[in-house]
Amino acid sequence: MTTIALPHLNERALRFIGRSHKLFINGKWVEAASRLTFPTYNPATGEVLSQAAEGDKADVDAAVKAAREALDHGPWPKLTASERGRMIWKLADLLEENLEEFATLESLDNGKQLGVARAADLPLAIDMFRYMAGWTTKIEGNTIPISVPYTPGARYHAYTLREPVGVVGQIIPWNFPLLMAAWKIAPALAAGCTIVLKPAEQTPLTSIRLGELIQEAGFPPGVVNIVTGFGETAGAALAAHPLVDKIAFTGSTEVGKLIVQAATGNLKKVTLELGGKSPNIIMKDADLEVAIPGAASAIFFNHGQCCCAGSRFYVHKSQFDKVVEGITNEAKKICVGPGWEPASQLGPLVSEEQLNRVKGYIDAGLVEGACALTGGKQIGEKGYFVEPTVLVNTNKNMKVVREEIFGPVVAAMPYSDIDELVDQANDSSYGLAAGIWTTNVSKAHELAAAMRAGTVWVNCYNIFDAALPFGGYKESGWGREMGHNAIDAYTETKAVCLKVA
Ligand code: ADP
Repeated sequence: MTTIALPHLNERALRFIGRSHKLFINGKWVEAASRLTFPTYNPATGEVLSQAAEGDKADVDAAVKAAREALDHGPWPKLTASERGRMIWKLADLLEENLEEFATLESLDNGKQLGVARAADLPLAIDMFRYMAGWTTKIEGNTIPISVPYTPGARYHAYTLREPVGVVGQIIPWNFPLLMAAWKIAPALAAGCTIVLKPAEQTPLTSIRLGELIQEAGFPPGVVNIVTGFGETAGAALAAHPLVDKIAFTGSTEVGKLIVQAATGNLKKVTLELGGKSPNIIMKDADLEVAIPGAASAIFFNHGQCCCAGSRFYVHKSQFDKVVEGITNEAKKICVGPGWEPASQLGPLVSEEQLNRVKGYIDAGLVEGACALTGGKQIGEKGYFVEPTVLVNTNKNMKVVREEIFGPVVAAMPYSDIDELVDQANDSSYGLAAGIWTTNVSKAHELAAAMRAGTVWVNCYNIFDAALPFGGYKESGWGREMGHNAIDAYTETKAVCLKVA
């Protein structure tokens, strides 16, 4: 099926790409009810990479019913917490054993650097499963000393149980395909839920391969189901399904709002990790040797396709020209090329649609009066490459400052004092992340407290850990991924009250 010849890449990954892919429902690999398939592309060449089954409403329905059956009558809820944890740990081990294959699939399907997939996406996904494997034996309720004033003399034994929230639908994006699957699946399994996962249509491959490892790890049929397909069809059917108890979504704020509407039918629980337009602040006292490359990486990492990308850049006016020149030089040094080229540091955007969106934003910025100190253009005609772009002469009313671009484009703006800076930084409908570069510890804490954002990085950026909660204020979402917060999101609390005297 694939037309690319890349002999130095992992052979198992290339063989996997050449296979026809199916849906994973109730422990079996099945064709879509419609028998339709859809192509996934190699973003570095624009060529078809592989074909996936095009799941739709009927397939989602079958997957949800399998998940329901597995939760209500299957062996899964009868496993001990320790057995559940061991299975999740085994999945982590299997991922680790197949790291090179997964990294290659991720790089070819998404366009990201193979080295980044190897060093970041895979280890973080593996660690997520291990972290959550540990949680299975630590999900505890409380005993509660209740008084009940209207039953004088009565005695009660009251406690809470933490139970799985139920069947969960999980809809994930294309920017970190496997890692987003891990962020969603691992805590849901730890909590004892059953799952229907809908990967992004641009990047289905690592989720499908993960399904094979889920089988190999011994999870009972129906515990994890994977339905590849499009958002408007398979995704929408999952979000609206009446037998789904909770929907967890990562993607655009626009679609997040549709998910909320779709969930109203049965008032399923909803968590959302949505867009961002994160401020990245270089204070006057910052160590510029660290801050300049750090701020460049905050926007250009993963080709700017990070919901938390540091895309609004604020620098004190006294240093603005110097710092922006530094960032511009960093941008010019970046080697752009296919993910499989070892020298390449910035790969293609994920799709033609994304390429056109990013180019549209850059053009809108230039029309509104912004000036590109570097970048601003597509590179070549093959694949979806865009130059790393630094925009100045931008202001808070411009589209490039207000809206999420999801590409390697940063808008730089000067500030004069801290109060103005805080107002500017918080002047966004989003609130996912913020970066602060300073050598003054007091100022760091003061500013961190002032940021209306779910994550604040000080003298670093894009630092993630399975134990550290991640999620957004304002229109960046509801709830948190990772850490013990994620366990909360996949459990219900039941109060039990027993009269003892
Ligand atoms: P992007 O615009 O960056 O592709 P989206 O928010 O559209 O991001 O996509 C994120 C995920 O949401 C993908 O898995 C996609 O298929 C899914 N999706 C898109 N539209 C809908 C929808 N209407 N209902 C449910 N899921 C959707």
